[in-house]
Amino acid sequence: MLCWNCNEPASGVCAFCGRAVCKKHAAEMPAIVTIYIGDKQVPKAIVVSGALHCGNCHPQSHPIEMPEIY
Ligand SMILES: [Zn+2]
Ligand SMILES: [Zn+2]
Repeated sequence: MLCWNCNEPASGVCAFCGRAVCKKHAAEMPAIVTIYIGDKQVPKAIVVSGALHCGNCHPQSHPIEMPEIY
């Protein structure tokens, strides 16, 4: 697989959108692995820091409601 940005051989895949990126174009960003309802009904997120990010996509900080897919 080749880097989305420069067509050099890719070193990894963006954790958010799946684009392949080389070391030069890879960035790091915390990624939310899962969200659950913890004590006192407070939502908690398990976050992995340093996840691979391609620099092209834009992970949203909040979930988006999609009632129309029902
Ligand atoms: Zn590249
Ligand atoms: Zn991406």
